[in-house]
Amino acid sequence: MEQTVTLTDLYEFKRCSLRFKLTKVDKVTSVMNAKDGLHEALHSTINYFYYAMLDGKFLSMNDLKEKFSNIWYGEMDLYDIKLNGNQEKRKKELEAIEMLQTLHRKEQRNKDEIVAVNLDFRVPFGKELTVMDKIPLIRKTSRGHEIVNIKTGKQKYDEFWQRTDMGITLQALAFEGIFKKQADTIRIENIRRGDSTFLERKRSDYQRLYKSVRMMQKAMQEGWFYPNESFMCNSCPVKNICMEWR
Ligand code: SF4
Repeated sequence: MEQTVTLTDLYEFKRCSLRFKLTKVDKVTSVMNAKDGLHEALHSTINYFYYAMLDGKFLSMNDLKEKFSNIWYGEMDLYDIKLNGNQEKRKKELEAIEMLQTLHRKEQRNKDEIVAVNLDFRVPFGKELTVMDKIPLIRKTSRGHEIVNIKTGKQKYDEFWQRTDMGITLQALAFEGIFKKQADTIRIENIRRGDSTFLERKRSDYQRLYKSVRMMQKAMQEGWFYPNESFMCNSCPVKNICMEWR
């Protein structure tokens, strides 16, 4: 039987296969921790910004703040985010606004054309598995077509991550399938630090992707869902169930 998974599923599976099973397959909870919640709320606001730009409208910073607050304070009922009180909520909100200001200032000066926002794709891995996801942003720059990923996390995006980021490899592969050519540039924009990194993807990167996706598929088919204890357990929403796993 053909199986379809998202890139988020694969990341969840890599993070901890038991957590993936409990939250994505059994769906015992949809609660998100503060870090994941901030990421989702910020990226929804960023998508809103770029969709408007695609429609020829440049939103003000106040529009972005309002959109983010509506998501963050639950008025849009999009996410179930678990926070430790109002102080943490406000602190994270200020963090988000600072990042949105960085992005907004940058885009005021940017003359590049927006080609696509959240472009859906499906990449088959053999006959039995398809991975679906989106290319967040494609711009037309003086160098040609550019895949852009906006990062908001604190973790260092060092050479290891630049070379092995599975999402970027998948997007590069999907871009080739859709546009029948390689992306001319791939840019990672970190709006927390305000810097950009350019990446490349080659055939050898696609080989790594194919091999690891196939192995994850095999593990899922075999039902190999086991706890992968790490510092991430501190904020895991299924910690209590996991403790009883035997
Ligand atoms: S508590 Fe840790 S090991 Fe258990 S499911 Fe959550 S992430 Fe996995």
